[in-house]
Amino acid sequence: MRTIGLIGGMSWESSAEYYRLLNELVRERLGGLHSAKCVLHSVDFAEIEELQVAGEWQRAGDILAEAAKGLEAAGADLLLICTNTMHKVAGQVQDAVGVPLLHLADATAAAVRAQGLATVGLLGTAFTMEQDFYRDRLASHGLTVLTPDAAGRALVHRVIYEELCLGVVREESRAAYRRVIGELVAEGAQGVVLGCTEIELLIGADDSPVPVFPTTRLHAEAAVTAALQPPAAP
Ligand code: GLU
Repeated sequence: MRTIGLIGGMSWESSAEYYRLLNELVRERLGGLHSAKCVLHSVDFAEIEELQVAGEWQRAGDILAEAAKGLEAAGADLLLICTNTMHKVAGQVQDAVGVPLLHLADATAAAVRAQGLATVGLLGTAFTMEQDFYRDRLASHGLTVLTPDAAGRALVHRVIYEELCLGVVREESRAAYRRVIGELVAEGAQGVVLGCTEIELLIGADDSPVPVFPTTRLHAEAAVTAALQPPAAP
């Protein structure tokens, strides 16, 4: 089994889910007492969030790239950035190391395509919904990406930073997200990407009339598949 390196803490609420999912998935696939081989570098999210708001992506990328190097030195064979938003600096992180970075949007797009869908709604932080880095990555797999209107985007973003990243799950926010999902479906979304690693703490399949794509779970599944692949023949 390969060792999975996690760049986490963004927020730790979702990194805890990654840790649980990786271990559950390895146990499901190998049985018995098997669990995931992994190393975690968990940042102080307040420092990262300040850099996000200031638009200092290069500096945030430097922090994650340093974390990636540490994980590689600690024995990680593959890396995950445990947040959709910080995939904005995925290239910078990948360039810092020799081991592969498993891109969250690629794992998500593969799951969407496997269900034969072409148009998806995207929920995430304002950075993820409004900037190109994530939508373009999904589009590079042939997907059409719809995002909520300005009011919907503001609501989805606020709930992530003011509630979910602090471990707060509110019924009113679930209802509000359901309304936003309904609007995306009315516009033609055949599925909804839960494109923030905390959203699946709030929203599940029952909250949507179309399939949802929970990115934390999908990323963890792709990582476990990669970690359990037999070594390439010499
Ligand atoms: N975990 C979130 C995401 O998947 C938001 C926190 C962050 O800005 O990294 O985008």
